[in-house]
Amino acid sequence: MKLYYDSDADLNLLKGKKIAILGYGSQGHAHALNLKDSGMDVVVGLNAGNPDIEKAEKAGLTVQLNDEAAKAADIIMMLVPDQIQSAVYENDIKSNLQAGNVLAFAHGFNIHYNQIVPPKDIDVIMIAPKSPGHLVRRQYEAGQGVPNIIAVYQDASGKAKDIALAYSKGIGGTRAGVIETTFKEETETDLFGEQAVLCGGVTELIRAGFETLVGAGYQPEIAYFECLHEMKLIVDLIYEGGLSRMYYSVSDTAEYGGLAKGPKIIGKESREAMKKLLEDIQTGEFATEWILENKANGPKFNALRRLLQNSQIEQVGAKLRGMMSWIKK
Ligand code: NAD
Ligand code: MG
Repeated sequence: MKLYYDSDADLNLLKGKKIAILGYGSQGHAHALNLKDSGMDVVVGLNAGNPDIEKAEKAGLTVQLNDEAAKAADIIMMLVPDQIQSAVYENDIKSNLQAGNVLAFAHGFNIHYNQIVPPKDIDVIMIAPKSPGHLVRRQYEAGQGVPNIIAVYQDASGKAKDIALAYSKGIGGTRAGVIETTFKEETETDLFGEQAVLCGGVTELIRAGFETLVGAGYQPEIAYFECLHEMKLIVDLIYEGGLSRMYYSVSDTAEYGGLAKGPKIIGKESREAMKKLLEDIQTGEFATEWILENKANGPKFNALRRLLQNSQIEQVGAKLRGMMSWIKK
């Protein structure tokens, strides 16, 4: 695997070009401020009445409406929520694109699943920091960066990859290292990771453990500590030093129990379910479900959110976290 660093990227490729950052949320504020501090000509694009207009202006940035920003820009980075990107593209960007422009993303969903179909005469690239935006900004200010992944979907200029690397340098990514991927790989692995492991897998594992203990008559508060609260301690150790480091830090009993019994919980059936989930991502089945869900104003999404909020583990947790003064509200 090749890693790209500062010396592989040339900021001059962005000089004299106007960069429009659409959206000023987690990623948007970090990209806009880092690029500006790297000496680039940045404008933030937002929709009329958006409360983030004031935030961006207070930070010293120029703000325009989406369509004006898109029209003025040579490089347009889409950092509005994924569900509205295709509408923003249709309404504000499409008619303002010129041959030779660059359309950039931090996630591949809308391009990979054809919710945005750009004209052939522009570059389409991805620059995705592997962290929330606030860390992207904080690391940049500290003279560091977070690793980025980049991808090229369309290379009209012949320089698309170099532009992606230059952009990554502008937000601090090449300080840490950049890995090249494709829109397909980024989109499919991102969806799989969040569904099977990071968001879906972890929460259901926690809930199943909690409900098993409570169902067997143990106190919900004790079950909460054992199955949810301590998760952070374990994940912090894994994050810092891998799975072995975590096992090194826990007791021998926990290490043996985990190694010997874990595969009985995430066994053959779970691995089969993961394969099916991946298949649904690869075939576009999940994308279709999610796109239709949004078109219908999220009836299932809202119900699932409500059911979770009303579940016992959430009620117990809210009460217990009130006892922990160090946890921010
Ligand atoms: P966010 O929800 O934090 O911010 C979205 C921004 O868009 C907000 O400023 C919001 O006011 C603005 N917005 C809403 N409607 C708008 C409109 N019609 N026109 C213009 N602006 C509008 O989103 P985010 O988490 O920064 O995600 C942006 C992109 O970055 C997504 O593609 C996401 O997948 C990707 N990404 C996010 C992360 C992350 O950790 N948050 C990491 C990597 C990639
Ligand atoms: Mg992700």
